[in-house]
Amino acid sequence: MKELIEALFPICRSISGDGVRQSLACLQEVIPLDIVEVPTGTQVLDWQVPREWNVRDAYIKDATGARIVDFKENNLHLLSYSSPVNRTMSLEELRPHLFSLPKQPDLIPYRTSYYNENWGFCLPHNQLLGLADGDYEVVIDSSLEDGSLSYGECFLPGTSSQEVLISTHICHPSLCNDNLSGIAVAAYLAKSLQGRNHKYSYRFLFLPVTIGAITWLARNEETVGNIRYGLVASNLADQGGFTYKKSRSGCAGIDRIVEYVLRTSNVRHEIREFVPYGYDERQYGSPGFDLPVGSLSRTPYGEYDEYHTSADNLSFISHNNLQQSLDIFEKIVATLESNRYFRNLLPKGEPQLGRRGLYKKVGGETDQKESQMALLWVLNLSDGRNSLLDIVEISGLNTAAITQAAEILVSHGLLEEIPVAES
Ligand code: ZN
Repeated sequence: MKELIEALFPICRSISGDGVRQSLACLQEVIPLDIVEVPTGTQVLDWQVPREWNVRDAYIKDATGARIVDFKENNLHLLSYSSPVNRTMSLEELRPHLFSLPKQPDLIPYRTSYYNENWGFCLPHNQLLGLADGDYEVVIDSSLEDGSLSYGECFLPGTSSQEVLISTHICHPSLCNDNLSGIAVAAYLAKSLQGRNHKYSYRFLFLPVTIGAITWLARNEETVGNIRYGLVASNLADQGGFTYKKSRSGCAGIDRIVEYVLRTSNVRHEIREFVPYGYDERQYGSPGFDLPVGSLSRTPYGEYDEYHTSADNLSFISHNNLQQSLDIFEKIVATLESNRYFRNLLPKGEPQLGRRGLYKKVGGETDQKESQMALLWVLNLSDGRNSLLDIVEISGLNTAAITQAAEILVSHGLLEEIPVAES
């Protein structure tokens, strides 16, 4: 993951353009990845695929001819999606196009202007304060032309057509935690699943935020119903604990599984409710799709000082924490894969347990009540949609009691195991 992040860090990515393609090509060296190109102007839900942006060079030169702000030194210096400029102008004319952070005066901010044509430069506030009056040569050698939007998709089929979706954004330039960390975790999770047998099919998406997810949803509307579990991966290498933002429903299988894994892994974590803001969970969780997709990060977007600044660089991220994040994603997958589903074969009314001698089957006196309750919970919740883990979480009983109850009920023909959840 460290090598991948170091290779991707210098590339100037945006919501389209060659930087995205080059990044996806890097990922193809790690995992099998289809690169999908969707032409400019394609209607995708309520949006249109925008013009493609590419940049070759951008700088501001002062009166002595020195490059005082240089895209080649740090790609954050350029407002992302800047239209081309090539002229000499006064500081007064230039100033509305300069962006800085007065509260973090030594850092370069990350700014974009995707859907409102503009141009600009980002620079440390202290440098902005020191600019002398006079003329500046301003060059942005960029193009905004018909082209395409690129995204990457890695599909690993399982024995079931039911899918687990892992989605991450790839549109940020030289920033590490947001979101090379998410890209690295998703890529290496895919790599670890590749060549292994698995029950679920896994779909990994590497997309420009918002427009990429909207484009993918528009092109895959017919099959999104296969998605049984989903996670958006971002901000996974900072020093903070984990933050899980629940899916739109707040009670999807993925919500229970992530909460269970975080709780039982002895890691600092916080669970939050869904809000229609953030990354692409808001597209997957729009009401017309309402997919069971939560969002797992360490410190969420906007809640650490380095976020969207030049301080979110290679020295900011912790490789131990990044590895721990991958471990948590792998545990989530292992839990999904081992989680079992059952169907009650006599779901109308309670089956008569006494006649079948089932009350006698349950253990000693001290745990008899728990064993009886476990039988009733398993019978009631085994409608094909709740897993054993769901039943453990909802009932508050322990895993051993619930598993034993399921086995007893199967041996009496009251319950049957089904391969994966029913929709
Ligand atoms: Zn961001």
